[in-house]
Amino acid sequence: MLETLHRIIQDVNDAPDLGAALQVIVEQVKQATHSDVCSIYLTDFERRRHVLRATRGLRQQAVGRVSMPLHRGLVGLVCERAEPINLDDAPSHPRYLFSAESGEVPYHGFLGVPIIQNRKVLGVLVARQRKPRQFEDDEVTFLFTLATQLAGAITHAQASGELAGVLGVSPVPTRFLQGLPSAEGVAIGTLVVAYPPADLDAVPDRGSQDPERDIACFQAAVAQVEKDLRRLQHQLGEVLAAEEQALFDALLLMLGGDSLVHQIEERIRHGEWVQSALHHTIEEHARVFDKMDDIYLRERASDIRDLGRRVLTHLQSDTPREVEYPDSTILVGEAVSAMELAEVPHERLAGIISSTGSSSSHIAILARAIGVPAVMGVSDLPVGRMDGRAVIIDGYRGRVYVSPSHTVQREYQRLVREERALSQELQALCRLPAETTDGYRMPLYLNTGLVSEMSSLGTSESEGVGLYRTELPFMVRDRFPAERTQVANYRKVLEAFAPRPVVLRTLDIGGDKPLSYFPVEESNPFLGWRGIRISLDHPEIFLTQIRAMLLASEGLENLRIMLPMISSVTEVDELVLLIQRARDELLEEGHALIMPQIGVMVEVPAAVYLSGELAQRVDFLSVGTNDLTQYLLAVDRNNPRVAELYDDLHPAVLRALVQILESARAHDCPVSICGEIAGNPLASILLLGMGVDALSMSAGSLLKVKWVIRSFSRSRARQLLQVVLRMEETGQIRRFLEANLEEMGLGGLVRPGK
Ligand code: PEP
Ligand code: MG
Repeated sequence: MLETLHRIIQDVNDAPDLGAALQVIVEQVKQATHSDVCSIYLTDFERRRHVLRATRGLRQQAVGRVSMPLHRGLVGLVCERAEPINLDDAPSHPRYLFSAESGEVPYHGFLGVPIIQNRKVLGVLVARQRKPRQFEDDEVTFLFTLATQLAGAITHAQASGELAGVLGVSPVPTRFLQGLPSAEGVAIGTLVVAYPPADLDAVPDRGSQDPERDIACFQAAVAQVEKDLRRLQHQLGEVLAAEEQALFDALLLMLGGDSLVHQIEERIRHGEWVQSALHHTIEEHARVFDKMDDIYLRERASDIRDLGRRVLTHLQSDTPREVEYPDSTILVGEAVSAMELAEVPHERLAGIISSTGSSSSHIAILARAIGVPAVMGVSDLPVGRMDGRAVIIDGYRGRVYVSPSHTVQREYQRLVREERALSQELQALCRLPAETTDGYRMPLYLNTGLVSEMSSLGTSESEGVGLYRTELPFMVRDRFPAERTQVANYRKVLEAFAPRPVVLRTLDIGGDKPLSYFPVEESNPFLGWRGIRISLDHPEIFLTQIRAMLLASEGLENLRIMLPMISSVTEVDELVLLIQRARDELLEEGHALIMPQIGVMVEVPAAVYLSGELAQRVDFLSVGTNDLTQYLLAVDRNNPRVAELYDDLHPAVLRALVQILESARAHDCPVSICGEIAGNPLASILLLGMGVDALSMSAGSLLKVKWVIRSFSRSRARQLLQVVLRMEETGQIRRFLEANLEEMGLGGLVRPGK
């Protein structure tokens, strides 16, 4: 049954649309379970009915016509219970409903399995038998597995508007893909696909600019691959067994044969870009093998894909990527990287869409830093087919409108105008102090990481840099930057802000911040080798960085060093010793350096409970609520599936903040917040009420937070905090804070429009 299951799943994935996928399932399930009927009912929530959408065994004319009210019949019962119902004599069940329209004779055996996505029942998959029959356990699980596959396909069809067509209801006028709101703002622009090299599946569909040149490039790449294969075959000739040698012959034969090469060239002649022509042809050939029953032949599919990858690698290295970035580029990809982001000219980047990740992924943080809207976690995004299409991105609601209608465009043009008006209103706050109505001044600092992302606003509006993520410059390179390069980099920031303080955080790689040249393969990277753990195991990397920081600060004296991912006091003691050692060496070398202030990030639950002990060892604490939320709530900050559970306004996070502040205060140690909560206008009132010593945020948040602070008194903030600390549930807290902002006329800070 497993083989059949795999084959059906493959066929469902290959189906061109939802209707075809439903048909594949009913046909194959009927056959595999030897039942008389297999049908799929989908729930039409608007009309509150279950509609027969596909069947094998009942009359075809019934499809789309037969339906039953939500809470009637056995199908309704499966939905209500959200679990399978397996009956050997359905007509004797009180909920049995006979439907003459579908040509039903009484069927006795009944197995109904719910199709569920995100806790919602979308429909029911049913198998029936004329004679009494109890379905076997493995048949139940078989249908169950297929129902989960189907749930994904239905959700996708829902997002693209296709489901409305399948259900026969008028399509919703505004179709959009739903993702996670990750950086505020709205933008109208053109999609450019960001794709990793040597990945056939990631190649976007494009037209060819010059088919003759594309064919010549393709032939050159094929010739190169032939040469590579012959060289490899020769090199390995003595160690390979005869049948392994035969693999090379088979690959060379495929390349030399007319069919593959010819088909690719034909596609290019018909106007397709060389890389997508290669991708589609290779996939077509590989799929033929995928479907073969013989295991040996099925394996050949991966050989063909391997061949395709080899040709692609040559194509991509011979023709450097020349991407024309349109004026309002919206970058889209499976997982947009910092490197890809850095390639887009700053003034042309208008937004980011990614099918993976969530609002607390680093790429989303970067989007906020640059001030462009971002929507992450847009699952089932057909990335490959999106290049060059018009798009609207709504970073407040996490919506993406591909090829939007005129009505939607008009509505968003209005919102863009309102956003501009709001931003002008905010500009009026420039240079005014972040001071409450009762005269308390809250220091606002800047979070940054790439020198190019340091806007003049961030430089003029902040009291310094509260978090410089040093790993970002490491991520957009292809090797570790030398000490000299690092010195130059840090010097630019330190100089730009002197005499204001600049907090440089030591390298925090790992988790979702990989370095291509320092691969770390782990099944659980957020609980693995990251941040300070790597620094302790590789003191040479840490010491080079500290030396560079110290050297860069010579004569400026505004450097502060911050240590990420601390979970014990021993780590701090060891790292402080290393910093002292680096400074002593530099003094011996004749440099005049003061010992910088050292701080620790509180972003692991262990550090919350140790904040008193940590406060005694260092000059300041800074709370990294992004990681702290992830670890306190046990929710991966990058996983869109659990993104709804990730919320830094969770009562547990707020109570942890209060605890850190109390422990640190007992040792006169200042506490700042540098996680994203610091730049969230909703949270500003609470943080003000808690008495944090400073807030550090992306440039785009500075004026928004300042506006909130200038609108409230500190005593009112304390009162509101007391109310919130008694609340037990995140939704309640969020609604309460939103209502308070609206009341003060500040609602436009947290939703689209003014
Ligand atoms: C944090 O975890 O809150 C933080 C500021 O660090 P990062 O987002 O870079 O992990
Ligand atoms: Mg962190």
